[in-house]
Amino acid sequence: MTALHLGVDIGGTNIKFGVVDEAGTILLRRRTETGAQRGSGAIVSSIVQEIESVLKDPLLQNRKLESIGLGVPGTADSVRGVVVYAPNLFWRNVELAAALQPVFQTPVFVAQDTRAAAWAEYLVGEGRGLRGLAAVTLGTGIGCGLVLDGKIFHGALNTAGEFGHQIVAIGGEACNCGRCGCLEAHAGGLAIVREAKKRIAALDALLDRDSSNVTVADVYRLAEQNHPQARELTESVVRFIGIGLVNLINLTSVEMICLSGGISNAPRALLLDPLVEFVRTRAYEAASNSVRICRSMLGEDAPMIGAALLCHGISGPAQPRTTRVN
Ligand SMILES: [Zn+2]
Repeated sequence: MTALHLGVDIGGTNIKFGVVDEAGTILLRRRTETGAQRGSGAIVSSIVQEIESVLKDPLLQNRKLESIGLGVPGTADSVRGVVVYAPNLFWRNVELAAALQPVFQTPVFVAQDTRAAAWAEYLVGEGRGLRGLAAVTLGTGIGCGLVLDGKIFHGALNTAGEFGHQIVAIGGEACNCGRCGCLEAHAGGLAIVREAKKRIAALDALLDRDSSNVTVADVYRLAEQNHPQARELTESVVRFIGIGLVNLINLTSVEMICLSGGISNAPRALLLDPLVEFVRTRAYEAASNSVRICRSMLGEDAPMIGAALLCHGISGPAQPRTTRVN
């Protein structure tokens, strides 16, 4: 019988729980509200309670969980199981693995949600059998998890994959990270909405409602109807994300880019097809001929499935290096 794992995807709004088998199939799922304002202690207590309730489910009556994994929306130190900084949760240095491990007597793993998503794509999603892939989330913000040479790539400073904060415009728009000209500030969901309000004339009349709550989907609908300013905006989104992808492919030599998040649901002809063309004609040739760009089949479940399977991707504390070259 296949081993069972529990994956927890902690988001700013909801926390998703899933019991997952080795093939990545979700056998049971639960969801609770995060209530981020409550602080880390209350949220961790809620997670413990929900896991206890999952353990009482008939599915787990004669079977045991092999591991628990948590994906978090921020910087995580996976070796120590600590959430270093998660701005949407208002968390700093939360020792998540240490809080859960003694309660459940089961190995507990913690990783940034984007890395968990990439791990899911690599193990059980579109990227099975590949050596390297990037799972890029195009949503309100823009993020990326990397699996390189068959391993989750964290980086020496634990900040690898800050794809949305690569600079694509010198002196460009201000970003939530405090810098300027980041990809996210030019092609993230908030940026698309901001630009729509700025660039599309008579937006109220076009939408037939108050345009202050214009959405990314509205912009793509107008672009599909060939509205010139909306079209210009979606074309600029392709250019900025395209630059980001070319940089990513040239640097990492990944074989696949898996796209997810709200913006990735844009009509194919307005996003995926022109992005593929942008990369094919602009990335380093040896890579551009081979790299595949696709939509994620796991979609919003990817972080939860990948979190459940983190036990296969995260090992114990790294040995400190005792020698320095200079
Ligand atoms: Zn930024």
